[in-house]
Amino acid sequence: MNCATITNFEAYENCRLCPRECGVDRAAGRTGVCEETAECRIASAGPHFGEEPCFSGTRGSGTVFFTGCSTGCFFCQNWQISHEGAGHVYDRESFYALLKALAAKDVHNINFVTPDHFWPHIAWACSRLRTEGVSIPFLFNSSGYHREDMIEAYAGHMNIFMPDFKFADPELAQQCMQDRRYPDIALKAIRKMVELKGFLTPWDPSGETTAVSGVLVRHLVLPGHIQNSIDALHLLKNEFGPLLPISVMSQFRPTRLCTARDCLTRTLSPQEFEEVVAEVESLGFENAFIQSVPDSDAFMPDFRRNDPFRGNRR
Ligand code: SF4
Repeated sequence: MNCATITNFEAYENCRLCPRECGVDRAAGRTGVCEETAECRIASAGPHFGEEPCFSGTRGSGTVFFTGCSTGCFFCQNWQISHEGAGHVYDRESFYALLKALAAKDVHNINFVTPDHFWPHIAWACSRLRTEGVSIPFLFNSSGYHREDMIEAYAGHMNIFMPDFKFADPELAQQCMQDRRYPDIALKAIRKMVELKGFLTPWDPSGETTAVSGVLVRHLVLPGHIQNSIDALHLLKNEFGPLLPISVMSQFRPTRLCTARDCLTRTLSPQEFEEVVAEVESLGFENAFIQSVPDSDAFMPDFRRNDPFRGNRR
């Protein structure tokens, strides 16, 4: 399939926007793995201060949280929107107006969170925003689970890529998101992102100067799966070298769905995280954000609230 065509709204009619390639007609109200039709749904939009400092800066990152997810990890920290459908429908004009209003809040960037399954809407709105003079960076904040041949289309609109690299272990990927191809698919996607946009720039961990372009890769450490994290770091280092900007996160919290499965039912221990951080150091990563082990849930979202993040209240 030609990817120039799959960024049009017609792409929803035989949806192959992500590696699931469901082939369903979302325009007719059907849903695939992402559980969303062609009606764009959003759970929350506003300045957010819980991203890495190079994105949140002093005025916040303009996050837009889309409902649904093509990756669908059962432990998702945003489970209310990825699994339970929290969100409201925005038609094209109201979606555009939402983004324009967000940009007018003087945020450092517009941060599209889990955007791939609504890519036609996003590509359309981003083109229009640029035509109308909105110049702040657009950020693609994603699971890393993408069709490699979509990355060029994304890069035509996005300045910054912030993909996860969640699983080095195919069996863990199968267990968590039902696709053991994840490590291979995500590495290919990230490789293409780096080829097209380079590493994140400028690199200013203090957040005094916010990022304007390039790639930063995130990894959330899962309790009881330290070897997966160590293997993920090795794969990233071997592929991209020690200058790749990375963010290693400790914030995992068990969700209702973890309890229901009796899997990943505890938080990460400080010792586990220290082991992973030691590996970051021994591999020589030079541009790494290391999240401190959180002692509060200030940035654990509750999408039933207007602003889902208590930590955003200032
Ligand atoms: S975006 Fe949704 S419907 Fe389309 S291929 Fe992916 S999971 Fe399936």
